[in-house]
Amino acid sequence: MRVELKHIKGGLLEQEYTCDPADFPDLVNPAVQGDVGYQGPISVRLRFRQSARMVEVDGCLEATLTLVCGRCLTTFEYELVEPVAMTFVPEAEEDEAAEEREIDQLELGMIPYRDDCLELLIPLQEQLLMAVPIRALCSSDCKGLCPECGADGNLAACGCEKKLFNSKFGVLAKLKK
Ligand SMILES: [Zn+2]
Ligand SMILES: [Zn+2]
Repeated sequence: MRVELKHIKGGLLEQEYTCDPADFPDLVNPAVQGDVGYQGPISVRLRFRQSARMVEVDGCLEATLTLVCGRCLTTFEYELVEPVAMTFVPEAEEDEAAEEREIDQLELGMIPYRDDCLELLIPLQEQLLMAVPIRALCSSDCKGLCPECGADGNLAACGCEKKLFNSKFGVLAKLKK
């Protein structure tokens, strides 16, 4: 996935890509992604705006993920819609001042390019990795697993809660005597 500056005609280019998750090496690497899976292709819409040698890119990433709920441990589908914003600047020439300038640019989140060619794959992969929720829930009111018996509270009440309540009540009753 790359765009050459000569394709940004009149300073503006809009592009749409449909990517296979396997195009991004880290997205299909279990050591990086853990339980996160990708269902079908990743859609990428980008707009490139060039002014002088700087290219600003904005747009949107969309993907369907499979995640494991942090509370009930079931797998569920998650629609990822993530805005993208990146700034590409020409790679510095090989001298000391340029090296310092390059470090400044990296700190500002600018992505260096060379040979008039913007390499999109790794920056987009980074954006995707950062967009995945760290502790996702299958729903905001997921009841989770019962700490007593491990049953999934979303499926059926297991009765443990009632027992807990009764035993507390029993203690109270004893205290009252
Ligand atoms: Zn859940
Ligand atoms: Zn239970």
